[in-house]
Amino acid sequence: MYKLLMMGLFFGLLACNSKEQKQDEKTNTTNNAPSFAELPTYDGSDLGLTYTPAQSSFRIWSPSAEAVTLKIYEKGDGGEAIKQESLKKAENGTWIAQINEDLKGKYYTFQVKIDGKTLPETPGIYAKAVGLDGKRAMILDLKSTDPEDWANDKKPALKNATDIILYELHVRDFSIHKNSGAKNKGKFLAFTEKGTKNATGQATGIDHLKELGVTHVHLLPSFDFYSIEESKPNEKYNWGYDPQNYNVPEGSYSSNPNQGEVRIKEFKQMVKALHDQGLRVIMDVVYNHTGITEGSNFNSEFPQYYYRQNKEGKYSDASACGNETASDRAMMRKYMVESVKYWATEYHVDGFRFDLMGIHDVETMNQITEELDKIDPTLYVYGEGWLASGTPLPEEQQAIKKNVLKLKKVAAFSDEMRDAIKGHWSEEKGQGFVSGKTGLDESVKFGIVAATQHSQIDYTKVNYSKSFWANQPSQTINYVSCHDNHTLFDKLKVSNPEASEADILKMDMLANTMVLTSQGVSFIHAGEEMARTKYGEHNSYVSPDSINQLDWTRKNQYKDLFAYYKNLIALRKNHPAFRLPTTDLIQKHLKFIETKLPNVVGFTLEDNAGGDSWKKILVIYNGNLKSQKINIPAGNWTVVLNEKGIKESSLGTNKGGEFEMASISALILVQK
Ligand code: CA
Repeated sequence: MYKLLMMGLFFGLLACNSKEQKQDEKTNTTNNAPSFAELPTYDGSDLGLTYTPAQSSFRIWSPSAEAVTLKIYEKGDGGEAIKQESLKKAENGTWIAQINEDLKGKYYTFQVKIDGKTLPETPGIYAKAVGLDGKRAMILDLKSTDPEDWANDKKPALKNATDIILYELHVRDFSIHKNSGAKNKGKFLAFTEKGTKNATGQATGIDHLKELGVTHVHLLPSFDFYSIEESKPNEKYNWGYDPQNYNVPEGSYSSNPNQGEVRIKEFKQMVKALHDQGLRVIMDVVYNHTGITEGSNFNSEFPQYYYRQNKEGKYSDASACGNETASDRAMMRKYMVESVKYWATEYHVDGFRFDLMGIHDVETMNQITEELDKIDPTLYVYGEGWLASGTPLPEEQQAIKKNVLKLKKVAAFSDEMRDAIKGHWSEEKGQGFVSGKTGLDESVKFGIVAATQHSQIDYTKVNYSKSFWANQPSQTINYVSCHDNHTLFDKLKVSNPEASEADILKMDMLANTMVLTSQGVSFIHAGEEMARTKYGEHNSYVSPDSINQLDWTRKNQYKDLFAYYKNLIALRKNHPAFRLPTTDLIQKHLKFIETKLPNVVGFTLEDNAGGDSWKKILVIYNGNLKSQKINIPAGNWTVVLNEKGIKESSLGTNKGGEFEMASISALILVQK
């Protein structure tokens, strides 16, 4: 548990922008946490604004408020209110107002008075459009933000969740480099640009994604966050794990953050362009904490309610960002469920990655997937199955890895596989399977079966979890690096200072060969395919573009590596044996072979597994820094992957028997 906590802590402490004081850790025996259990809740779907040209209706839930004022403004920023209305107390703790005129294009805020105190103005937590820096909500007709042909936007086909290959990308990093070839650098609109090239003529941008062959683009926070002043998008950099308005796109990624409709339309244009190129879109969602605590939209609407408190009545801080939200409370749960439904329907988003998902409760996550299923059963949900620090939420309710078994359709990241392959995330020099560290074979096998149950694994020897934790392979994300910590290339360099670059690249290729030939859902960090470097920066959440940007010159510099990744992805997509949809099928078709060699793990996929065109597939990974004499079962084998590359038609043949397998390499032989 310590490792899990620390993993999140490392991320949380450094990645969020909290200026909050750390909570006093002293405990006392009396429980001073406020209780909200007796409050009325509201289950209607009209919280926030309901707009028609004839009238605008407003509703806010704040059951203990003494008064709520609505203020109407001409602009999203600056100027005095042109109209003020008192909301009337209505049913179930809500307050309402109605203005019978066409307010399209105007902006508004709510101001709540509670316990004799007037709270800061807020656009309201249900705001769907905001002006500059998310301070005021905008009144608009959402239909007017639909891009051309939006009604005919079609999601690319997806048969099984295990067919998904995720590509984790930050909106700005994607196109900000001078060599990206994009006109709309750093913006949502860069995703709509086809035909972009780097200086040496290779495809960049969306053409690059298509060429690489990934199926889903997973975008780092793209909802509205605090850290970037939207009128000065080039002054600072941030990943965006500091939520402000959950139901609105971030303004600094739009071409005009002053006009509330622009960011909405451009986000939709991005989704449409990705869909048109056969790519689905995942949003990184961060409901587990808000970027600020006092003055947040939650606290400006109904103080304390949306956050958990410790026994002393102070904000609990499982996110290590100053607060944690309370998904187990009815109106927070409703908020999360409605928010993801809104993104899925209004923006046609195809799935969600939940930051610090362990802060959320199992019931909420199950309700989310049940509701998303009604919209489209191919929408995909996954998250970080850990927390950054302690929480009052009982462990059995936390949506952590060990409780994935209680989650119906939610996946979690496998840090077991990740750290087994490359080395421990927090130990700079920590080595892994691909850099010759022994004792990790069972952890690698755990990853190969995507954290499911398999009779040939000794779970007591797995690095972190001591039991399988996924019901199905679709519940496990296999990966070797992401935005957190070193890039794969940097991690391999830092932990193997004596290794030549040629050997680093061999380790890199073996690492992702392991990810992409394992069961489960594959995930790669943007730029891994061109040896992305952050120049040794292991936590780049506020680092400048020079550290974070995808440097498209590397596509030329590492063109052999890129070709390898592309072929590897094609291999996975061409062969269903590598992405079996159920645990039953894995148990039936996947057999580990006894290699009797440390740091050599092998398995077969037999009997046209998953309907594969190959009758039998033999996969062996050699993580040793020296070649190894292995025994290949007798048979008419065709070599399709070895240290020289990948060729599905044939790289040669093998009759079985003793074989010298190259150092730091993978080998795949097939019987057709
Ligand atoms: Ca913002």
